[in-house]
Amino acid sequence: MVKRRKRIYTENTQLRDLMKNIEKKIIKHLKDRGWDNLRPSDIAKSIMIEGAELLELFQWENLPLKDIKRDKKKVNEIKKELADVLIYTIEMAVLLGIDSEKAILEKLDHVNKKYPAKLMRKDSKGDPGTGEDSDYWRIKKDYRKNGKKS
Ligand SMILES: [Mg+2]
Repeated sequence: MVKRRKRIYTENTQLRDLMKNIEKKIIKHLKDRGWDNLRPSDIAKSIMIEGAELLELFQWENLPLKDIKRDKKKVNEIKKELADVLIYTIEMAVLLGIDSEKAILEKLDHVNKKYPAKLMRKDSKGDPGTGEDSDYWRIKKDYRKNGKKS
């Protein structure tokens, strides 16, 4: 038990250090270029534009994970667009004073409660979330019906 707690503590500390290091680099990147006063709406647009560039890589195809992973050129292109999305996302967080690590962990906790792992694993035989009668869609529809968005 003590060993497990130490491992979790170490993992959390490493994650915190990693996030803080990335945030510092992004703040420097913005300040060095005089971009540290960007409008949040412009960053939101940039996140979506880069997200569209990521999505474009999958235009006219719907390959499963294992096939995409085999295509090293494709994975490299995905990596670049994903980095664009992540950088703009963290830029938004640092400029608004949002703690990225805290925001991610809070949201993960929320999603873990919303979609219990045991229930989701039951549905995960085929493509996740594709069956209209899946627990995933039942939970999502219940949330929307009750006016919850996240
Ligand atoms: Mg791009």
